[in-house]
Amino acid sequence: MKTFEKLSILADSAKYDVSCSSSGSDERIKYGGIGATHNSGICHTFTSDGRCVSLLKVLLSNSCIYDCSYCINRVSNDRKRASFSPRELAKLTIEFYKRNYIEGLFLSSGIIKNEDYTMELLITCLKILRYEYGFDGYVHLKLIPGSSKELIDIACSLASRVSSNIELPSSKSLKLLAPQKSKETVLGPLIIARDLSLKKSKKPILMSTQMIIGASDDSDFDILKTASILYEKALLKRVYYSAYVHVNVGANLPIIPQSTPLLRRENRLYQADWLLRFYGFKYDELLDTQQQNLDLNLDPKTFWALNHLEHFPIDINKASKEQLIRIPGIGIKGAFKILKARRYKTLNLEDLAKLKISTKKAKYFILDRGKYQKEVPLYKENLQLALLSPSPKLIQPLLFDENYAALSGEI
Ligand code: SF4
Repeated sequence: MKTFEKLSILADSAKYDVSCSSSGSDERIKYGGIGATHNSGICHTFTSDGRCVSLLKVLLSNSCIYDCSYCINRVSNDRKRASFSPRELAKLTIEFYKRNYIEGLFLSSGIIKNEDYTMELLITCLKILRYEYGFDGYVHLKLIPGSSKELIDIACSLASRVSSNIELPSSKSLKLLAPQKSKETVLGPLIIARDLSLKKSKKPILMSTQMIIGASDDSDFDILKTASILYEKALLKRVYYSAYVHVNVGANLPIIPQSTPLLRRENRLYQADWLLRFYGFKYDELLDTQQQNLDLNLDPKTFWALNHLEHFPIDINKASKEQLIRIPGIGIKGAFKILKARRYKTLNLEDLAKLKISTKKAKYFILDRGKYQKEVPLYKENLQLALLSPSPKLIQPLLFDENYAALSGEI
């Protein structure tokens, strides 16, 4: 098989892994094909200094001895298989790099023969790149769950970034959909990489993982709980959430109608994850065993605020940074702008707009010069309607009482 044909098969097989910042968009060709973004093969990522780099995203092999129900490359699928030799892929990467097509490599593989054998092939490819071609560029390498500690150690020392997919958030789902994997094997590479990172002599290892959303019946609560535990134990820097793509048929797989808004669910999980990592939220504040899924129509912070109106309205002239960043529509940068600006004057809604802080949502959760806005009473049902309506002024208050009237200055 010619290298180009292999490339087209192995780049296509790699496109379901979302553990890099972009994997192309599905924008269709409209004019003639130049600049089309839907083709697989190139993805982008951001380095720790904020630079965006383009990567050749490819598998070493799409042959796999495993039979994970959700995966296009599973052994039971009848599809065209291809494999690069480590040298062939290293040469191709360097040729693309020299032509300025790419700046680095995103490399993964199906499991060929066994886990250690596959990891050794991936390491050989990296060694050729690093030591023979002297390639200092960015390489994101997928660690193979179940491979030995020694091999993972070598892989971590050669790659710029490593990741290992846990795929499903619970042992129960792994058992159902990926029975050859277990919680211990999928967590193994993360634990080994974390422990290596903790040894002072080693460079910090930035680990990420992918979780598939919607292939199992795990709730958003289960997914965010697993992500939180992994963040707390310093096993990960980032989780990538990937809406289940219906590529296989199977008794244990969901039958997903076209209308299922999995992509919106994926987006809400990314927003919730951001709140966990940067806003000090705990997973069990956002959701609980009663309310197990995020609202698809409201962002997670607004959803949380509506369910915790006891914390609102907040006086923006007195609130701490921690309180300000919990106001829907106010981010970390906005909170710092408020803290700085209020040293010089008492702020009102117009001042927030001048500071380029959106007040569209925030106005329902703050006190403006000590008063609550008069449009919509401070009740969940009213606010929910107002936040989802394009013209809140047309909404008749559902609930109104003296507490609201006092807040808004009506009495
Ligand atoms: S081990 Fe990876 S490549 Fe193989 S079937 Fe499972 S998910 Fe697919």
